[in-house]
This record gives sequence, structure tokens and C-alpha cells, in this order.
Amino acid sequence: MTHRILILGGTTEARQLAGRLAARNDLVVTLSLAGRTREPAAQPVPVRSGGFGGAEGLAAYLRGEGISLLIDATHPYAARISANAVRAAAMTGVPILRLDREAWRPAEGDRWLTVTDADDALRALGEVPRRVFLALGRQEVAAFQHAPQHFYLIRSVDPIEPPLAVPDAVYVLGRGPFEEAGELKLLKAHRIDAIVCKNSGGTASYGKLLAARRLDIPVVMLRRPDEPAVPKAESVETALALVDHVLASAKRGE
Ligand code: NAP
Repeated sequence: MTHRILILGGTTEARQLAGRLAARNDLVVTLSLAGRTREPAAQPVPVRSGGFGGAEGLAAYLRGEGISLLIDATHPYAARISANAVRAAAMTGVPILRLDREAWRPAEGDRWLTVTDADDALRALGEVPRRVFLALGRQEVAAFQHAPQHFYLIRSVDPIEPPLAVPDAVYVLGRGPFEEAGELKLLKAHRIDAIVCKNSGGTASYGKLLAARRLDIPVVMLRRPDEPAVPKAESVETALALVDHVLASAKRGE
């Protein structure tokens, strides 16, 4: 029997999982992307792109395509699509599982301050002008216009358009992985004295935290949104085992 699987992606792990599942001839795998990145990375399975139109739209897609398993492998901070996935799974009875990277934990020498959101991060930076590396997405950086006294170094996959309404900002384009050596060079070149970032987990963007530790730079870390309450794997390998478990349970009608 062939099972159709929909993976909600936009992460390296989603791509890796899709590649591993695509190798099996009992599964038909589709990967879904939000369609925000101009030139998304190549994917090992067919891709559909763009929003579904909320939980109802996603539920209609699951029914229409005869999906037997929904895998939410979106980024830990993509809270809206994850909430929609939980609701769509409940509406349709399609089993759901989540692939979510383990969060980073501070190690000896790290100077992290955890904050709830970008506004909270602004307060943490304070009034005195600083030289800040904003390792955040396009949506979050806009809030920093409220603190134009700081210098900002902003790195993104696609250009930030329009640029921030602040007098002193430098934009660099880049797609991970980012190694420690390159991050050290970047932080030193721009005399960065604070980093604002997300607790993304994984290795691809950990280099900046190693560099911050080395340079004794404080890190303002945006707290992760609450996790959806669904079966969860923290690695591609665990997710593969969970997929078999979920499909076998569905077959037994559990
Ligand atoms: P979000 O706020 O949770 O989602 C906003 C809306 O975008 C959703 O309601 C949905 O629209 C659509 N959407 C999001 N992910 C989708 C997907 N994989 N397939 C189809 N539609 C999707 O998401 P976000 O934080 O903007 O992230 C967008 C994408 O970028 C995600 O796929 C995520 O994995 C990836 N990403 C996010 C971050 C981050 O820091 N947030 C970092 C790296 C990668 P509808 O309601 O119309 O269905």
C-alpha cells in the first residue's frame, strides 16, 4: 500500500527527511514551502509552494490529496503554520508528527539573555548606542527601527526591502551554514558588541554563538514559541522511526 506524506518544510531537516523518505517505494512524498525565499534550495521531492489559507485550507489539501501522514518540519519559530497543522490534523483525523531541532543550551563562557520577543530584545539592548548583529528574519528586524541609536549588521538570505529606517546599518546576504571562523571575522570586522538571534538549534547557525563566546560578546536570545503538543522527533533518524510507527498504528486502526 502506498502512503502519501506531506512535509511542511523550510528547514534543512525537512529537506533531509524528504530525501530519506523519497528513497522508499511505499511512500509518495510532497514538500511544502511557504514560498518566501526567492531562490529556495533544491529539494529531493516534488514541492508545492505558498500558504494553504489557514488550518481550513490545509485540512482541505490533506483531504484532497489523500494524505495519510502530516509531518511538521518547519522552523521552531514558525508558530502559525505549526498551530494550523495541529488544527488541520484534528479536523481531518490525519496523524501528525513534528520534527524539531533540539534547542541550544548555554555553555560555559556564554553570556545569554533570553527575551520573549523583538520588543523585549530592544529593551535589553538599552539606550546607549551599541554595535548589534541582528541574526533574525526579515519580519523581526523591522522592530529595531525603534532604536535608531544602534549600529546594525543584518544578514539575510534575500535583501531586506525596504531597508530599515535607521542611520547606520550594513546588510550582508548569506545562506548558512556559517562556520565559527567566518563568524569571528564578521563580528570583528564590524566591531560587534551584541548579537540578537533565535534559538534555532542545529549546527548551521551555531558558529555565531561559538564566535560570541570566543569574543565574550553578549547574546540576546529570543525565546522559542511554545511547542505544539504532538509526537515529536529531534532528529531525522528518530523521525524516520516515528513515521513507520505512526503508519503501522494507522493501519491497525489505533
Ligand atoms: P509562520 O509565521 O508560522 O506562517 C505564516 C503563514 O505562512 C502560515 O500561516 C502559512 O500560510 C504560511 N506557511 C508557513 N510555512 C509554510 C509551509 N512550510 N508551507 C506552506 N505554507 C506555509 O511561518 P514563518 O515564520 O513566516 O516561516 C515561513 C517558512 O520559513 C516556514 O516554512 C519555516 O519553516 C521557514 N523558516 C522560518 C524561520 C523563522 O525564523 N520563522 C527560519 C527559517 C525558516 P497559510 O495560513 O495561508 O497556510
